[in-house]
Amino acid sequence: MKITPLAADSLGARSMATLVETPDVTVLIDPSVRLGPYRYDLRPHPTEKGRQKELWQRIRSAAKSANVLTVSHYHYDHHNPDAPSIFRGKLAFLKDGKFHINRSQRERAGAFVRALKKYPKEIQVADGNQMDFGGTELLFSPALPHGYNDELGYVVMTRIAQGNEVFVHTADVLGPPLKEHLSFLIDAQPTVLYVDGPMTHMPDHYPAEHTKRSLSHLLRILRTTNVRTLILDHHILRDREWRTRMDPVFRAGKEHDVGVLTAAEFAGKPVEQLEANRDRLYGFDMSPKGISGTGPSEGGDGEGAPLPE
Ligand SMILES: [Zn+2]
Ligand SMILES: [Zn+2]
Repeated sequence: MKITPLAADSLGARSMATLVETPDVTVLIDPSVRLGPYRYDLRPHPTEKGRQKELWQRIRSAAKSANVLTVSHYHYDHHNPDAPSIFRGKLAFLKDGKFHINRSQRERAGAFVRALKKYPKEIQVADGNQMDFGGTELLFSPALPHGYNDELGYVVMTRIAQGNEVFVHTADVLGPPLKEHLSFLIDAQPTVLYVDGPMTHMPDHYPAEHTKRSLSHLLRILRTTNVRTLILDHHILRDREWRTRMDPVFRAGKEHDVGVLTAAEFAGKPVEQLEANRDRLYGFDMSPKGISGTGPSEGGDGEGAPLPE
């Protein structure tokens, strides 16, 4: 099984787009990449815009080789309604757009399916679904909350198993903070697990208790499953201090011989937290030690709506 993170926060823009190739099937999970509309009250820097373009080209060309395209939920960093033609001739597994979904994502899901038109060969609801391709099993979790409650809607996790290898992609669980996230992950028995991590850069929207819970869930997974590689990325990479915050996970990884790394490092590339460093890209520093001194957690995440995607 070959797992290739195509775009990720550690590669410079918001995404968890991942290509998984087995001898039986090629699956592209969450083909999209976006930029945080505001960080430190700043709009995306030209460097980030250039990076987003590069990463989107990578996703678009990977889509050509994929048989299956999946969408975990309807935030724009996980699906791209502007490029429905990448679904041409593919089998599409899409998060249910009617049930277990919040209003904004229900509207986006409807618009997306309308945009897809006849491009996909077939569309299936992902939630709780399963399909075998020769010796490869593709399975989706039931809808699980996008975070510590369902205010931001629901996501599906993706599990791909072939031979002794099991890859699990959590999509946006913001942690994982909930018991139901943990139960699915423990049952899934991943060998390679890709997690989005707690949202420590927005403490006003993500109370510290959920970081604590997420850390203890990750430690439990490291201790009780056969996971060999833990990829941490997406939300947690929006925090410059993420390595310090994730220190217990790094230590447990060492203890249990589990590689803990970012999507960039997994792909053999340098870590570039462009959004977390947007202030520096513009030539100043918003960290507590910096001249402005308002702290790295300032700044909303979305246009008017301060909630994460
Ligand atoms: Zn996301
Ligand atoms: Zn999301």
